Amino acid sequence: MPAPIPTQTLTSNRAPELQRIVDAIRIRQRFVLSSHARPDGDSIGSQLALAYALRALGKTESVVNRDPAPGPLMAFPGVADIVVADRVEEDFEAAIILECGDLDRTGVAGLDRSLLINIDHHPGNSGYGQLTWFDPHAAACGEMVFDLVRELSVPLTVEMATHVYLAILTDTGSFHYSNITPRTFEICRQTLEAGVDPVLVARNVYDSNNMGRLKLFGAVLSAMQIDPTGRIAIVYLDHEMARDAGGTYEDTEGLINLPLTVKEIEAVVFFKQVEGDEYRVSMRSKGEIDVGAVAKEFGGGGHKNAAGCTVSGPIDALQKMFIERIEKAIAMHDRSSLHR
Ligand code: 5GP
Ligand code: MN
Repeated sequence: MPAPIPTQTLTSNRAPELQRIVDAIRIRQRFVLSSHARPDGDSIGSQLALAYALRALGKTESVVNRDPAPGPLMAFPGVADIVVADRVEEDFEAAIILECGDLDRTGVAGLDRSLLINIDHHPGNSGYGQLTWFDPHAAACGEMVFDLVRELSVPLTVEMATHVYLAILTDTGSFHYSNITPRTFEICRQTLEAGVDPVLVARNVYDSNNMGRLKLFGAVLSAMQIDPTGRIAIVYLDHEMARDAGGTYEDTEGLINLPLTVKEIEAVVFFKQVEGDEYRVSMRSKGEIDVGAVAKEFGGGGHKNAAGCTVSGPIDALQKMFIERIEKAIAMHDRSSLHR
């Protein structure tokens, strides 16, 4: 049997940056919390877990995001109170930015008028805060917020625990991605102890869609292409396809993961028309194949298994370019596994 892992490494991350952030929070009263535009489960979960903790400490906070939360997340506690705006006018004592690699990605102006605190796990975080706590090994920013809540000595309520669990569930792709550690499960264990119902969370996140979404999935998957190696799926969506299927762009959340359920498919690239020749590109991969590096080459970023960028050009040429680059990433991985 392997040696037991000391509890401290599982439950607590005593980074000095974390301690400085705890001190900064303790002596302040009014906070604004933000995250990246088009927030995902980790953005919403991290923000609201911390918002509830700040409230428990008797502080006031406002959660401000550039875009609304995805529809299925509206059922979670506190989500309906999130302010959707592209600027903050009020004066706050500190702005805590969660799950956001760069301040620009918030799409919210005026956050840098107060003390800026940056808490994130995205590789390549630009270190924009006066206080920055960056942990690329965290499977979700929600894991870091869990530590912060603990260090603030706030008892974990079911609301906080639900948001931490939501962050981890969604950011690990339902426990699929390679950034999961024993700590991930230790934190989830503690969230369940605090009263989280994982069945209810999964049902809200994954089983609360509308019919238009299913039809749209059908249309996009019917038009899916596979590259000549048989290992990369290419999916595409434009406004006309969405309209014809009776769905919206928001309905595509999660679609990109479906081609990966095919054994032979190791990476997926999804082109979504913004307008004209401009496309949002999302990529997903299995195991050690690094699509984050591919996204970075095109001015975007992300993680090894989930990344994205925005590009412009004729769609055929763009698809060819991305496929070539992903094939290279797969070949690189093939070579390194041979040497193992
Ligand atoms: P998605 O495909 O869901 O839009 O993005 C997956 C992940 O890639 C996100 O969690 C984020 O980390 C990263 N990402 C997506 N688009 C961009 C981008 O334009 N710039 C950067 N830096 N990261 C991105
Ligand atoms: Mn995240």
